Amino acid sequence: MINLKDVNKSFKVKGTTFEACKNINLSVEAGDVYGIVGYSGAGKSTLVRLINALEKPTSGQVVVKGKVINELDGKELRQIRKDIAMIFQSFNLLSSKTVYDNVAIPLLLNNTPKEEIKAKVMAMLEFVGLSDKQNVYPQNLSGGQKQRVGIARALATNPSILLCDEPTSALDPKTTDSILRLLRKVNQELNVTIILITHQINIISKICNKVAVMAEGEIIENGTVKEIFAHPKQQLTKDFINLVVDDFIPDTIFAKAMQEQGPARIYKLRVLNGNVCDTFVPDLRKQFKLELKTLSMSVMEMQGSILTSVGILAKGDAEELARFDSYLYAHYEVKEVTA
Ligand code: ADP
Repeated sequence: MINLKDVNKSFKVKGTTFEACKNINLSVEAGDVYGIVGYSGAGKSTLVRLINALEKPTSGQVVVKGKVINELDGKELRQIRKDIAMIFQSFNLLSSKTVYDNVAIPLLLNNTPKEEIKAKVMAMLEFVGLSDKQNVYPQNLSGGQKQRVGIARALATNPSILLCDEPTSALDPKTTDSILRLLRKVNQELNVTIILITHQINIISKICNKVAVMAEGEIIENGTVKEIFAHPKQQLTKDFINLVVDDFIPDTIFAKAMQEQGPARIYKLRVLNGNVCDTFVPDLRKQFKLELKTLSMSVMEMQGSILTSVGILAKGDAEELARFDSYLYAHYEVKEVTA
């Protein structure tokens, strides 16, 4: 659906060249909800602006549905742009127009017949759950409702790609969840491929199937969300994921475990897709002649898979502990935290 090949984008600022995107290679397939996460200034917005051809790459190719869009202009470019819609953190609604008129804007620009516009706007408002707000002005809507209007407007022309620029950053957590549910519905029911940029990793785990982590203009790590969350490689990715995967062992429990007499080790483990809650530690007890205690456990769901974090104290014979240690490192994402 979208392919970026060796894409670079630099800006000249006061005589010096600044590279906002470096050697970007990215492949987005039809049906993906592809998250791009990174701190402010990482180059995410520039990347998105390359995909909808608001910026041209300094080198490389941006291919959308088989067309190298950075080589297109005029009618062909306008045509492909119609297929790529966008929503924004700040919603970008026209305050002087009603909800109905805001959603109608792209259809008017397309010279759509009036009756068709009416049917489409009403269908979109129903899809986003705002049928009763058609005559309301943006100032009388909540943040979540404004973003729903933004989504209805973006989808009015039946695009196959939706770019989302920090779509929930201005919203509270509950509203964020409702907008993410709506975006999932857009993806699944309308078959729209979504690219979502955010600095909030929890958004990625809730809605995306794939993720790219950006830093200083580069994609430093990318892959499926399940794989990246279970086995992050880069330190920045680990830092991001630690914000949502709770593997904290409470201080008092940790301190007590550290006072155990004899050879003992404390581990933090991450296990993807196991029935960890009830069988993980009991199964380990069957395999190793060790005293194993569960110190902490947290569970999160990602696209139907369960990612579990477990804190374990292992105590016993030094040789058996070494065997246990090798087993854990061979099979799981694991960190020994015995100081
Ligand atoms: P992000 O979306 O991750 O916050 P941006 O893509 O907005 O990052 O910006 C990446 C870097 O590129 C920033 O340092 C920004 O100042 C710079 N940049 C972006 N657009 C321009 C521009 N038009 N001219 C000069 N520098 C720019």
